[in-house]
Amino acid sequence: MKYEPVIGIEVHAQLKTGSKLFCGCSTGFAAAPNHHVCPVCLGLPGTLPVLNRKAIEYVVRTCIALECEVSPASRFARKNYYYPDLPKAYQISQYELPIGRNGKLTVRAGGKEKTIRIHRIHLEEDAGKLVHDASGGSCVDYNRTGIPLMEIVTEADVRSSEEAVAYLTSLRSILQYIGVCGANMEKGEMRCEPNISVRPVGAEEFGTKTEMKNLNSFRAVRLGVDFEIERQIDAIENGERIVQETRRWDEATQTTQTMRSKERAHDYRYFPDPDLVPVEVSESVLERLRAKAPELPEPRRVRFISQYGLPEYDAEVLTGSKAIADFFERAASLHNDPKAVSNWIMTELMGCLNESGKTIDECAVTAEDLTALLGLMGKGVISARMGKDIFKDMFATGRPPAEIIKDKGLEQLNDETAISDAVEKVIADNPGPAADFRAGKKQAAGFLVGQVMRRTGGKANPKIVGRIIEEKLLSE
Ligand SMILES: [Zn+2]
Repeated sequence: MKYEPVIGIEVHAQLKTGSKLFCGCSTGFAAAPNHHVCPVCLGLPGTLPVLNRKAIEYVVRTCIALECEVSPASRFARKNYYYPDLPKAYQISQYELPIGRNGKLTVRAGGKEKTIRIHRIHLEEDAGKLVHDASGGSCVDYNRTGIPLMEIVTEADVRSSEEAVAYLTSLRSILQYIGVCGANMEKGEMRCEPNISVRPVGAEEFGTKTEMKNLNSFRAVRLGVDFEIERQIDAIENGERIVQETRRWDEATQTTQTMRSKERAHDYRYFPDPDLVPVEVSESVLERLRAKAPELPEPRRVRFISQYGLPEYDAEVLTGSKAIADFFERAASLHNDPKAVSNWIMTELMGCLNESGKTIDECAVTAEDLTALLGLMGKGVISARMGKDIFKDMFATGRPPAEIIKDKGLEQLNDETAISDAVEKVIADNPGPAADFRAGKKQAAGFLVGQVMRRTGGKANPKIVGRIIEEKLLSE
């Protein structure tokens, strides 16, 4: 490899406030166009913005989680540009005085730890949305205008698409843990814009960078970053110059395409917004929020390994989502075999979630129901095989396992007399295999167990069946 990629990442995270950043309009997702609007977010003359206190608190909580310095005073600025979905012709953002600076996030990529420095975290309002209809006309929907966005900008510390995805995965998980953002990329709650340049290995100076937009999944980030690195290396090898520009990832062709030449900060004529007073975050507010900060994914992962004796892999998967980790801890407190709980969550529960496209919050199975099922299997009431089918039923209907077992008559048959009767009949019907077994062919037992299982509708406890067959044939 003669070239080294240099990548910085900007993330726009939609804050989970109930109302917009500067007015009382709802931030709800599924409203009809232009139903969540008022004179303030429509930018009508004579209106004044009033800052949403919760949005500031959410940014400060993020600063704490990402170990940023929180500015005692920050200020809002106007970023001037004209676009039909921006009714004021400026966006309220932050420029020279962001809320957070100089943080860091340590991630694991390719088996190695990597610390990615956070350059700044600031707050800004979203713009509206243009909808181009089939007749060739364009409509504008202002529901999104004024939705609070938090912009998190890294230093150019990322060196591969793998590190970029590791950073985004970890960041998403933290935003979900601290409850400030849903961070669902498909829903646009978290948008990612990497800027990429390449330079010869060992060079100090950065190459010319391009910025990428329209990456709405981790997969698109990986493919898009890899494509752009290759494209730039090819261009340099062919003696071309890299142009500083914004490029969009095109899912259909799996390539990046020029969108526009990159604006520079002075193009926006930033200036302090005279309608908004500076934001002060006092030491006492910071102390209160620090005290309330929840356990983050990384320390929780380490604790899962030490407290529950889980393998690294399990701990990583379970703590990747706060809701899954909470579910695990609740179940592990009810069932004295954390590894079994972990196995069931990682395979059966997460399998059902993936298949149905549901999140764990929408899932009807409770930790109590899962541990009840594990208990019934432990006592031999049902087999592990049946447990899996019953779990699917629990997931689909939300019914507790005991009720499903009773309704469907699925109790495992442990009654030795009944099993013994079935074994006798099977031996009588299958003299050949029985003789084989007596003659020392152990594998003949498998056939006979299968026949008994068939006779009992799959309900006989296979361990008891095997033992009784052995007793009967070897004692004769
Ligand atoms: Zn409004």
